[in-house]
Amino acid sequence: MFDKIVIANRGEIALRILRACRELGVKVVAVHSEADRNLKHVRLADESVCIGPAPSIDSYLNIPAIISAAEVTDAEAIHPGYGFLAENADFSEKVKQSGFVFIGPNADTIRMMGDKISAKKAMIAAGIPCVPGNGDPLPDDPEKNLKLAREIGYPVIIKAAGGGGGRGMRTVHTEAALVNAINMTKAEAASAFGNPTVYMEKFLEDPRHIEFQVIADSHGNAIHLGERDCSMQRRHQKVVEEAPAPGITEEQRRQIGERCAKACIDIGYLGAGTFEFLYEKGEFYFIEMNTRVQVEHPVTEMVTGFDIVKEQLRIAAGERLSITQDQVKMTGHAIECRLNAEDPRTFMPCPGTIEQFHMPGGPGIRCETHIYNGYKVPPYYDSMIGKLIAHGEDRKSAIARMNTALSEIIIEGIKTNIPLQQEIMSDSAFAAGGQNIHYLEKKLGLY
Ligand code: ADP
Repeated sequence: MFDKIVIANRGEIALRILRACRELGVKVVAVHSEADRNLKHVRLADESVCIGPAPSIDSYLNIPAIISAAEVTDAEAIHPGYGFLAENADFSEKVKQSGFVFIGPNADTIRMMGDKISAKKAMIAAGIPCVPGNGDPLPDDPEKNLKLAREIGYPVIIKAAGGGGGRGMRTVHTEAALVNAINMTKAEAASAFGNPTVYMEKFLEDPRHIEFQVIADSHGNAIHLGERDCSMQRRHQKVVEEAPAPGITEEQRRQIGERCAKACIDIGYLGAGTFEFLYEKGEFYFIEMNTRVQVEHPVTEMVTGFDIVKEQLRIAAGERLSITQDQVKMTGHAIECRLNAEDPRTFMPCPGTIEQFHMPGGPGIRCETHIYNGYKVPPYYDSMIGKLIAHGEDRKSAIARMNTALSEIIIEGIKTNIPLQQEIMSDSAFAAGGQNIHYLEKKLGLY
């Protein structure tokens, strides 16, 4: 195991990684921006290094500053968390070239999965079910594109190869709108992602979002840890996640999960990752692979009892997977509510000082947050200030526990989305389970 690592992130995930390090006896170097001196994990870390001014471009995205922090502190490895540089292939490469271990897959894998076209090609080759559409780059030939759309059948979606974060996509319902939509998506993709390549696939009208957690070691072993349902979304951002996904059978879980684990072996995947699917009318359609730990990993941890972050560290240190597929057992149901510093109605971010914070508790409740009394939520970063996770013997008891926890938690001084989460947890359609990705926006009158 490593003696010391750098956590190249902030907020709740940095604290989560610090806790895993503590359990494994690994020392922690926290790197932080000038605005983040008082982050909880910075205060708890063995050492800390300020890597630049508040804007992330000058700090959490500043590759040379992070690598020099690892050098001056004699760390051995760097954990990127999620967001920021976690899926930046150049970062992974530079970390390695500088003599450190990147806690995640190698640069080639990140690069392949970061390009939606090469990812789709690799998945088709690995036998993972994909959305109809071959994934080839669209040519500058309107006739060919019109023909392709007719073959796929409207509606279709034009997607940027380099897109991410729910951007670089356009849905087309009619032939008349196709050519213009392709040109616009290309132009936007060129300016937003520096890559004008776009492709076309079938637009699924009322899918659910179901994703499979995988983890692979450097000895040719890979397992899946079942699936999560993340269909409660607003603007393609997940709001609530749960495991297992309502209505998914043991047989479906085994079939898709095993294919994902096998795909990891085929592509030489290393570490934790997620295969994201749209699920419609009983079929799974791959949309993308996330090559990092995810915000929603705790729901999987709660139902499997398996610590994904500790395993990431062990695998990066060269150890074998600590369990086999047969040892993965799912117990009960877990739900996660993301807690955001934002207005629950307008969704406007609401940074400021936390005047009162009381953490909820009780059986099956887990609260992942870096906030504390007097902590100042800075305006520079994502508005997520924590996550509340409830585990119960079944879905109904997990919802009941979440409701209790949401009514107990006190966060004063800033606005949060807790009222929205309470509304979702009391919603009868949510209680029934299996709503599609448009449900929340429809409920909010946004769709
Ligand atoms: P990103 O990398 O930007 O997150 P994804 O490929 O994961 O892009 O897609 C983000 C979201 O866009 C999906 O969760 C889904 O809501 C929608 N989406 C993507 N592809 C399709 C499709 N073929 N049909 C319907 N919705 C889609």
